[in-house]
Amino acid sequence: MTGIDDLPIRDELRGKTPYGAPQLDVPVRLNTNENPYPLPEPLVRRIAERVTEAARTLNRYPDRDAVELRTGLADYLSRTCGHRVTAPQVWAANGSNEVIQQLLQAFGGPGRTAIGFEPSYSMHALISRGTGTGWISGPRSEDFTIDTGAAVAAIAEHRPDVVFITSPNNPTGTAVDADTVLALHEAAQAAKPSLVVVDEAYGEFSHRPSLLPLIEGRPHLVVSRTMSKAFGAAGLRLGYLAADPAVVDAVQLVRLPYHLSAVTQATALAALEHTDTLLGYVDQLKAERDRLVTELRALGCEVTDSDANFVQFGRFEDSHRAWQRLLEQGVLVRDNGVPGRLRVTAGTPEENDAFLDAVRVLMKQSA
Ligand code: PMP
Repeated sequence: MTGIDDLPIRDELRGKTPYGAPQLDVPVRLNTNENPYPLPEPLVRRIAERVTEAARTLNRYPDRDAVELRTGLADYLSRTCGHRVTAPQVWAANGSNEVIQQLLQAFGGPGRTAIGFEPSYSMHALISRGTGTGWISGPRSEDFTIDTGAAVAAIAEHRPDVVFITSPNNPTGTAVDADTVLALHEAAQAAKPSLVVVDEAYGEFSHRPSLLPLIEGRPHLVVSRTMSKAFGAAGLRLGYLAADPAVVDAVQLVRLPYHLSAVTQATALAALEHTDTLLGYVDQLKAERDRLVTELRALGCEVTDSDANFVQFGRFEDSHRAWQRLLEQGVLVRDNGVPGRLRVTAGTPEENDAFLDAVRVLMKQSA
């Protein structure tokens, strides 16, 4: 049988495995940071209406520049992030993964490098590899925050072309404060200058305000966002960024023409009409996230403070065995390879109760 490595594939892809959390069919799935709440029925009906309308002109290519959608996203950001942005500062693509890919195609690539502070979102490294961008694993402190001094030193040493700052960070849940972002941005400009990408996929769940206002007067600073988490629309595949309009012009050099289908644009516009309802679910999830932190600590777990819709907990001698024991009780969480730690996504109150019961049993087994 032919294997991947028998193909004339690029050397850097040889022996590699694709990204992907196990998609197992178990009663309680808290492993991929999805929103547990299905879209509300009125929104489902509005999507049907908007998609029906879009279907009437599917013989034509969609709006290549997605202007109506980018205007809606700019309004949403202006309303919720404490900083006014307009459509020319916003760009949208099929998930923030595609946004990140387009940024790396335009600002990374062969002979260039990107840095992230690990453990962090593993796709930053994987998309770097896929775009031929060299990857540098930057440091993170024992408590999973970014040590500004150490991060600045790593930027000065490696002089990367792209700097990723994930806030709140996946898988640890830790947020980054504005002073740290400014210090890293300054170091990155002094070293190269380079593009600084603040990945705010979980921004809506944070206790802290968005870092978006920092783009003002900083044309090399980008904030990326997604409708996969707060909007409960992971299946939609809609991510976006806000930055100087020149950055938007730059990604248009590498985006595929008509990359955002008319159906996607129509669905995302419908979701934006229901922002307030969807943000109501975010409030519930934030409360559940805080409950998970408190109750896990009461059970004797070591828990990392979380600003996201998930919680990192431990410490386990063998985190894979702990993962397996939770799975045996019908609860799927994520083993991100952080030694001694697992990550659980905040689900519905019932799912979280089932998870906490399973941890209670696990802690007794380990005792
Ligand atoms: N950034 C971070 C930090 C993430 O955790 C994720 C999804 N897990 C993404 C980006 C990508 O999300 P999407 O492509 O669904 O927008």
